[in-house]
Amino acid sequence: MRIEEDLKLDFKDVLIRPKRSTLTSRSEVDISRQYAFRNSAGKYRGIPIIAANMDTVGTFEMARALCAHGLSAALHKHYDEPALAGFFRGLAAEATVFYSMGITGADYDKFRRVRDEVGEAIAYVCIDVANGYTKSFVDFIEKFRTTYPKVTIMAGNVVTGEMTEELILLGVDIVKVGIGPGSVCTTRKMAGVGYPQLSAIIECGDAAHGLGGLICSDGGCTAPGDLAKAFGGGADFVMLGGMFAGHEECAGDVEEHGGMRKVRFYGMSSRTAMDKYAGGVGRYRASEGREVLLDYRGPVEGTVQEILGGVRSACTYVGARRLKELSKRTTFIRVARQMNEVFGAA
Ligand code: 5GP
Repeated sequence: MRIEEDLKLDFKDVLIRPKRSTLTSRSEVDISRQYAFRNSAGKYRGIPIIAANMDTVGTFEMARALCAHGLSAALHKHYDEPALAGFFRGLAAEATVFYSMGITGADYDKFRRVRDEVGEAIAYVCIDVANGYTKSFVDFIEKFRTTYPKVTIMAGNVVTGEMTEELILLGVDIVKVGIGPGSVCTTRKMAGVGYPQLSAIIECGDAAHGLGGLICSDGGCTAPGDLAKAFGGGADFVMLGGMFAGHEECAGDVEEHGGMRKVRFYGMSSRTAMDKYAGGVGRYRASEGREVLLDYRGPVEGTVQEILGGVRSACTYVGARRLKELSKRTTFIRVARQMNEVFGAA
């Protein structure tokens, strides 16, 4: 047994210090980014915020709504092949939508068939496992990259620099970072495993950027300021589940509870999801997700404007004319526990 004594930080442990700025209005801030991917050599331009590949959030409707504003989505993996093929065939060339998959033989075969049908309309994949430290995951990435040299791969999840480097050297373009921070995730509680998300971003970002790779911070954002902190800490993309849940574009019915309109949102490893897709929780597993009832929030457009407004505001406070400059201009200050309560971020 060993104890690491270094301080590790979550979003709630810091604030961004304001800096002298010549910007006079948020409208002067450009929050789009351009990337050339290290391994696929693909080119990206857009607002680097991605809807999570959860079955309630990563829907076709969400992807269309977000792409209309320059954002992206990772589709959930439970759509059938004809639906996926139809969606990608109709996708505008400038839209960034990730095809999501796990690492089983069935996942691979399904991808191969859909991709054979639609060709380069699928330019982005999200290869997603709860634990990105296993040999089977690494082997899958290697095989996938060899077969599809030009597909941009986002893969994870990991939380440490050495594994980020390994994945990038194996062919991943965007390493997905986050174990345990998700709003409906119970991994920290059930397994005692995890890593404070801001420190994971800082450490993995540093490792990835040293090799010309990128990272996507996945999980733990509960308000626009958390996205500003993620970008300020070095995230190239930010993935959101809970913040995009509860909208018109999400899957699931709107229910009436005590006169209020509510929507169900659950983790992909929750009992609800496992009952739906895996015939229940397997014998040696425990559920590592929970279900919550959220207020229904109408079309996602309002939330998008709120998020972009918050990120623009952060850029204005530190004098970053472009999102690209935010991390260079960010100084985090650590806040005491009482301050977290004042800011409602505990
Ligand atoms: P959020 O933005 O809601 O805080 O986090 C979304 C992320 O939580 C997802 O992209 C995914 O990585 C993670 N996640 C989704 N469902 C589950 C689950 O059931 N268990 C765990 N451990 N993580 C989950």
